[in-house]
Amino acid sequence: MTRFSAWAVFKNGLMGQTGWGRQWRDPEPKKEYDVVIVGAGLHGLATAFYLAKNHSVKNIAVLEKGWLGGGNAGRNTTIVRSNYMMPGNRKFYEHSLQLWENLSHELNYNVMFSQRAHVSLFHSPAARDAAARRYNSMRLTGADGELWSLEQLQQEIPHLNYNNARFPIIGAAVQKRAGNARHDAVAWGYARGADQHGVDIIQNCEVTGVIRNGGNITALETSRGSIGTKKIGFAVAGNTSRLWQMAGLGKLPIESHKLQAFVSEPIKPLLDHVVVFGVGGAHFYISQSDKGSMVFGGDLDWYKSYAQLGNLPIVQDVAECATSILPCLGRVRLLRHWSGVMDMSMDGSPFICKTPVDNLYLNAGWNYGGFKASPASGWHFADLIANDRPNSTIEHFDLKRFERGVIIDERGAGPDPKLHG
Ligand SMILES: Cc1cc2nc3c(=O)[nH]c(=O)nc-3n(C[C@H](O)[C@H](O)[C@H](O)COP(=O)(O)OP(=O)(O)OC[C@H]3O[C@@H](n4cnc5c(N)ncnc54)[C@H](O)[C@@H]3O)c2cc1C
Repeated sequence: MTRFSAWAVFKNGLMGQTGWGRQWRDPEPKKEYDVVIVGAGLHGLATAFYLAKNHSVKNIAVLEKGWLGGGNAGRNTTIVRSNYMMPGNRKFYEHSLQLWENLSHELNYNVMFSQRAHVSLFHSPAARDAAARRYNSMRLTGADGELWSLEQLQQEIPHLNYNNARFPIIGAAVQKRAGNARHDAVAWGYARGADQHGVDIIQNCEVTGVIRNGGNITALETSRGSIGTKKIGFAVAGNTSRLWQMAGLGKLPIESHKLQAFVSEPIKPLLDHVVVFGVGGAHFYISQSDKGSMVFGGDLDWYKSYAQLGNLPIVQDVAECATSILPCLGRVRLLRHWSGVMDMSMDGSPFICKTPVDNLYLNAGWNYGGFKASPASGWHFADLIANDRPNSTIEHFDLKRFERGVIIDERGAGPDPKLHG
């Protein structure tokens, strides 16, 4: 496979672009693998990549029921940040941001990571105090964060509604190293990297059953036949409960909810940052893509479903948020919107853990924040599968934390999955 470089681009320019090969193979499934990862989203692909690269595991397959990156991986609004405060989350998300900072080099694939800053608006002195506490704790533990006054914010982002917003803006909490990336490129980069390490990525291969022999899983039934395996990792996001039930494990502390994303027609450069607006019932985040489209989203659709479709009341709600905070968008046309299926956990934090089945490992509960987490999620899930024990960064992300009463509720939203984001 061609390694991407300035020289390769130049050479192919001279050769009429005929020197580029396939980016990953399309192999037939083998009868048996050492490790099978179910789900070729970001978390599954990253896990396979780090299993092969960091732990030299050979004979790995990633099984995907559709096409790789066709789930939430290719449907999200691409925000990357590490502004978490809870002890169980802080170290993990900061590690992820550090991995993002070198990801294009590591994968030899431009994931278009753009550290354009993540700007959370606040609208009351109480919100400013809460942000000061969070951002100070971030700084004390090695991340970056700062508070902007209203004057500074007006200079940096002049188009926000400073004049007659229902909730007047009084400043913002900012993480400058945060930003966004191109989601498809991340999926393709991990797929290409994993394939280069010999991982078989098998698309159009749905897992339909789990064959257990006593305590262990011996094989997976799939739409392309039975595939034997020594270890299995589930990384299927909103479909986790389905796979969990196939394995005969009952219920999980996860609900599957829908979240929509929206893209406008392209417009001239308007917004250099990722801006988040959340007060009262409103929740809204927006950035501008390199092609000029405004990319934005809001809350969940408020009902549980496995459908990748959204409802119209949320379209209205998000459009109202958009025009209340950026009134200049009022006449911009919406181009597309779609939905993904979110694995919302009871405390809003994920699971990267062992399970009641010895050779089954779980990666789930990403709520609607799993894009930013994908490098560290793959890194630590691979470490868990290779070494059969959680390391200290992820030991809190287990299923028993609810029994212990040590939940990781970053939002303080309580045991209601749809309230976590
Ligand atoms: C609209 C929207 C906006 C979002 N915005 C952000 C954001 O700004 N920042 C952020 O950090 N996160 C965001 N997220 C969340 C993030 O996208 C997800 O948390 C993350 O992508 C989930 O992990 P994944 O990529 O592995 O999931 P997926 O891409 O969903 O991967 C799971 C895969 O498993 C496959 N699968 C399921 N069942 C089976 C089966 N039986 N057999 C085989 N394969 C199966 C699916 O087809 C799918 O491809 C957003 C999500 C959505 C939907």
